[in-house]
Amino acid sequence: MLDLSTTKEILNEFNILPRQSLGQNFLISQPIVQKIIEISNLSKQSHVLEIGPGLGSLTSVLLEFAAKVSAYEIDEQMIAVLEQRLSDKSNLALYHQNILQADLHALYAKEQNFQVVANLPYYISAEIIEKLLTEVPNMKSMTLMLQKEAVERISLGPNDSRYGPTAILIQLYGKITDKIKVASSCFYPQPGVSSQVIKIARDPKSVLFLNMENMNLLKFKDFLKQCFAQRRKTIRNNLKNNLKTKLSEQELSKIEQLKIVDFDLRPEQITAKKFWQLYLSVANYNDKD
Ligand code: SAM
Repeated sequence: MLDLSTTKEILNEFNILPRQSLGQNFLISQPIVQKIIEISNLSKQSHVLEIGPGLGSLTSVLLEFAAKVSAYEIDEQMIAVLEQRLSDKSNLALYHQNILQADLHALYAKEQNFQVVANLPYYISAEIIEKLLTEVPNMKSMTLMLQKEAVERISLGPNDSRYGPTAILIQLYGKITDKIKVASSCFYPQPGVSSQVIKIARDPKSVLFLNMENMNLLKFKDFLKQCFAQRRKTIRNNLKNNLKTKLSEQELSKIEQLKIVDFDLRPEQITAKKFWQLYLSVANYNDKD
């Protein structure tokens, strides 16, 4: 854990200016780091995936509580700091890589005690969450620092104009079990937005986890994006316009007749469970490609 003065010292020593474009707001609050560790409920069997370790404020504490930490950092200046500060930690696997380009499924889908803990770069937080949920739904939980508005958006049910694919994927994976407000003064530099830590725990009946072997969850994510491509249009029009290379009009009307959802509804009126059922019937035709 790094406090404000140590954080500034490290930045000076390595001649680093925090990059706003990479969402670099470093955690400097001991109570918040403790709270993150507490709600993550790590054990000595846990393999933690950390996204954006930065200067290692959270990483050094994760390394004490978990069996192993795999950390992905895009910025080579951060990598230089981490390599020096944490070089003696044999349970750290550090990757200088953009998390969005890592093949998480190939690397971690078979892990049993896999957990994600991260102070996420806010500019790509939704993309990262969607990637985790569709590539490694075997993770037991995700404990994430997010922008407050992102937490609101991903906690929503239908009938809200901000409801969409990320919220739907979360509902098919598990439940938000903890939410903690975090003051801007807990970071250096202070972000201009409000933050929250949330824990999302896998449900015993998690649709994504139970289907990760037999269904292509990446295609499901694409399907959701296509359903929401034009929010103000009916689900019929979205499917017709955006899936036309994959579904013929006849196939689409056969699916409509199954009455899984009313095709006159807009995507934001449809529950997560219904989207999954709809996808199962679309996938029957879609497996052609
Ligand atoms: N974990 C540190 C902490 O809590 O002090 C830093 C968190 S900071 C909010 C986000 C970190 O994510 C930065 O270190 C940034 O360089 C890194 N980052 C940004 N985009 C990334 C990407 N696409 N892949 C991996 N790391 C990324």
